[in-house]
Amino acid sequence: MKLKILLVSAEVYPFAKTGGLADVSGALPPALKKLGHDIRVIMPKYPCTAKAGRKIQSLKIDLSVPGHDQKGSLFKSELADRVPLYLVEHDGYFNRKHIYGEPGTDYPDSVERFSFFSQAVLEAVKSLDFKPDIIHCNDWHTGLIPVYLKSLYRKDPWFSQTKTLFSIHNLGYQGNFPHSHLKATGLDESLFKEEGLEFYGQISFLKGGLIFADTLSTVSPAYSHEIQTPELGFGMEGILQKRSDCLYGILNGVDETIWNPKTDPLIPANYGPKSLSQKKQCREDLIKTFSLRLNKKTPLLCMITRLSQQKGIDLIVAAKDALDKLDISLVILGTGSTEYEAFFKQWSRNRPGKIATALKFDESLGHRILAGSDMLLMPSRYEPCGLTQMYALKYGTVPIVRAVGGLKDSIQEFSDKTGKGTGFKFKIPQTKFFLKSLQKALSCFHQTKTWKKLMLNGMAKDNSWEFAAKKYSRLYQKSLRS
Ligand code: ADP
Repeated sequence: MKLKILLVSAEVYPFAKTGGLADVSGALPPALKKLGHDIRVIMPKYPCTAKAGRKIQSLKIDLSVPGHDQKGSLFKSELADRVPLYLVEHDGYFNRKHIYGEPGTDYPDSVERFSFFSQAVLEAVKSLDFKPDIIHCNDWHTGLIPVYLKSLYRKDPWFSQTKTLFSIHNLGYQGNFPHSHLKATGLDESLFKEEGLEFYGQISFLKGGLIFADTLSTVSPAYSHEIQTPELGFGMEGILQKRSDCLYGILNGVDETIWNPKTDPLIPANYGPKSLSQKKQCREDLIKTFSLRLNKKTPLLCMITRLSQQKGIDLIVAAKDALDKLDISLVILGTGSTEYEAFFKQWSRNRPGKIATALKFDESLGHRILAGSDMLLMPSRYEPCGLTQMYALKYGTVPIVRAVGGLKDSIQEFSDKTGKGTGFKFKIPQTKFFLKSLQKALSCFHQTKTWKKLMLNGMAKDNSWEFAAKKYSRLYQKSLRS
C-alpha cells in the first residue's frame, strides 16, 4: 500500500548535521520513495541549511500556531530523488549559530523552540493540503507531536486517520525541562502526571513521545532490548517495558550515494574491492595531512566521533600509556567535552607524528580519514546504532568496537581460522578487554592475506538503506492497523 508519510527531524543531511540522526533523516526518505511511498520531510530552517548547496524557495505560507503568539513561515527544498523537504522558518528561534545550543548544552528557550516547531509541523501539513497516514517523529525535539495529536488536535478531522511512529536515536538525550516551562508548550497542566509528561518532577519531551506515539522504534534490535534495562534505560526502562509490544529495532543503513569509496568525490583516490591498492593513496594523503611519521607496516587507526562519555573516550584515556607503547598511529577527528578535547590536544603535542587530533566537525575530512585509515576504534559505552562503523566497513577500514547496541548487531567477530567476520568486538567496557581486541586486530594486520580477507568481508556487507526502508514500510503499515 502506498502511504503518505511525513518524517520530522531537527537535523537532516545535507541541510544540518551534528550526528547520525541527520544521516538517517536524509537517507531513509529517498529509500522509502523508491518503494513507492509519498514521503515528505520537515525540519527547522537554520542558517546552515543555506550551505547545503540546494535551492530553497519560500512558499509564502505563514504558520501561526495556537497558543503561541509567534508566527513562522514555510520554505521548500528537495532531498535526493526529489523528496520534498519543508523548512519551518522562525527567525527568533532558529536563526542561530548552533542547532541545539553551545556544544553539549541546549538553548535556554528549547521548550519554546521545539514546541513551536512541533505545532508548526501540524499546521504546515494542513496548509500544504497533505494528510499524512504516518508522522514519523525522531528524538526528543519531535516528542511533543504525538502529544499534541492526542490532546490539542484530538478532534481535528485532518488528523483523524493519522498514526505516529516515534524513533529513538539516543535515549540519553531526553529534552527534560523544569515543570514551569510546561505553559510555554500550550499543553494542559493535566498532562503533568506519571502517565504523561512528568519525569522526576520535570517535563520530558522524550517521555511524551514514548507514551503518546502509536508505535515506537529504535535504531538497532540490540538497543531496543538494552533500553528496557536499568543499565541503559536512562530512567525510561519502565515505560519501555510497558510498551515493549509496540517497540521495534531496525538497524540503520548506509547511504551509498555518499559513503562509497568507489565514487566518493571527497577522497583523494577512489577504490573498491577489486582495486584495493588505491586505498594506499588515501593513507598517504592522510599521513601527509597530519605529518605522521610511520613506516609502511605501522597500522593507522582512527576515531571520528563526538568526544563524550557515551563514546567510551574514557577507555582510550585509560589506555593511553599502553597505546603509546604500540607500533600504531592514531588520528582523532572529534568535538565535545572540553576535558577530552584538552586530553587529545596534549597527547598529540606530546607524541607528534604518532597521535594527531583535529578538534572540529569536518564532514569532508571525515571521509578522508575513514578512507586513509586501516582501523576504526569505537569503544562506545552505549551505541543506539552507530553509523561510522558501517561506513568503515564500506571503506575497508576494520572496526574494533565494543559489543553493544548497533555495534553488536552490525559487526561480526573475525576468526582467522574460518576467515569469516568483519571486525573485532569486546564485551566488557574495561581497558584490558579493549586492548586485547586491539592486539588481536594488530596481529591479523601483519598477516597480509588474512587482513585482505577481513577488509573484503566488510566491503561486501550489504547495509544499504533499501533493506531498512522495507522494514520501516512494514512497521508503518502495522502502525496503521494498531
Ligand atoms: P552519533 O550520532 O551518536 O554521533 P553515529 O556514528 O551514529 O554517532 O553518527 C555520527 C556521524 O557524524 C557520522 O556520519 C560521523 O562520520 C559523523 N561525525 C562525528 N563526528 C564528526 C566530526 N568531528 N567531523 C565530521 N563528522 C563527524
